[in-house]
Amino acid sequence: MTQHVFLAGRLVPEAEATVSVFDHGLLYGDGVFEGIRVYGGSVFLHDAHIDRLFESAKAIHLEIPMSPAEVKAAVEQTVEANGVTDGYVRLVVTRGSGALGLDIRKTANPQVIVIAADIALYPKELYQSGLKLITSGTIRNHPAALPARVKSLNYLNNILAKIEGFAAGAGEVLMLNHVGQVAECTGDNIFVIKRGVIKTPPLDAGILAGLTRAAVIQLAKRRGLEVREEAMVRHDIYTADECFLTGSAAEVIAAVSLDGRPIGDGKPGPITNDLLADFRALTRGEIEVDLS
Ligand code: PMP
Repeated sequence: MTQHVFLAGRLVPEAEATVSVFDHGLLYGDGVFEGIRVYGGSVFLHDAHIDRLFESAKAIHLEIPMSPAEVKAAVEQTVEANGVTDGYVRLVVTRGSGALGLDIRKTANPQVIVIAADIALYPKELYQSGLKLITSGTIRNHPAALPARVKSLNYLNNILAKIEGFAAGAGEVLMLNHVGQVAECTGDNIFVIKRGVIKTPPLDAGILAGLTRAAVIQLAKRRGLEVREEAMVRHDIYTADECFLTGSAAEVIAAVSLDGRPIGDGKPGPITNDLLADFRALTRGEIEVDLS
């Protein structure tokens, strides 16, 4: 079946879904995006993703040429047109085409693009065995440079870290922030569990405000677990009982070693497995969380 992409206000066949070489999204990484899951035909945490997209756009002074309701409808329409029931949506807004140079006043036609596709980020076995992590030598973008809260099209910082992971045979890569604290992984937020208490870096550690992170915090609280958003260093991961990552693509996945040191007993832990089960129930609509 031909893949249809939403572009310039309508669905077009994939081969016709092209943008200008003068688009500043291509030339400068000037734009914002969301990666969204579809479960059982429903767009997961849809409103929260749309809100975050508009916040990212506002932060980079990019006016999205559609209302939040229109963008939401475009996502639904693209998912339906491509017959996606369990898959992934990439929602992109670029600055649009313009003169060479950084003057955003000389750009026009910001583009809203929606791609609906299949996804399998990690093989199924890894959800049972867990991921090996290494720490990257590339620190996460300084919050006063390109804040991680802006989900921008410029992912080079994360890509550089990911390249180190490929060389080391690691499933994901931990990034520290500008003061050496734990920030996040290249495409996921990180949590540890120590003596039953769950810890995750706070937003001001320079991380993306992950929606899976927010959902999992609610799921943990619902189980009566204590959740602390506090600054962490690598020692907290080396000595944790359990560790897991969260992300729209990765969902909830255990991390079982960091820099060659097993975390806990080197296997996915019981609380991680409980939270993964809760997360799956959430995606099936059996549980609800309030992310407002
Ligand atoms: N951090 C980074 C750098 C990411 O790219 C992602 C994936 N969007 C996440 C965290 C997880 O965010 P979410 O749960 O909203 O997908």
